[in-house]
Amino acid sequence: MKFPKSVLKDIEEHLHAEKNRVEEQIRQLSAQDPFSDTSRLTDNAATDTEAKEEIDHERYQAMLKELEDKQKGIIQALVRIDKGTYGFCTKCAAMIDTDRLAVLPIATLCMSCENSKIS
Ligand SMILES: [Zn+2]
Repeated sequence: MKFPKSVLKDIEEHLHAEKNRVEEQIRQLSAQDPFSDTSRLTDNAATDTEAKEEIDHERYQAMLKELEDKQKGIIQALVRIDKGTYGFCTKCAAMIDTDRLAVLPIATLCMSCENSKIS
């Protein structure tokens, strides 16, 4: 069993657009990193402002990680489309429900494997 080419084409286009979007978000986020400013290294700022920046930096890191994970998932999905393994559960090799892929195109597990992972 295989996914029709037309369906894969739609998903591939969607993933490419999504990848560009995520890359743009990463680029914008990188520009906002308060620690990317090298002048800070020589700036002896007061400790209370440093504490605030520490929190901002942690949130920035968390946001960046989330975007990078998403980007990784998209790239892996594109690779699987290329290899012809896209849409099959990486655990049990069952075909992943197309409704599920429509909602989560980067899904690698079928519904039952996903559910058994949680429980
Ligand atoms: Zn499965």
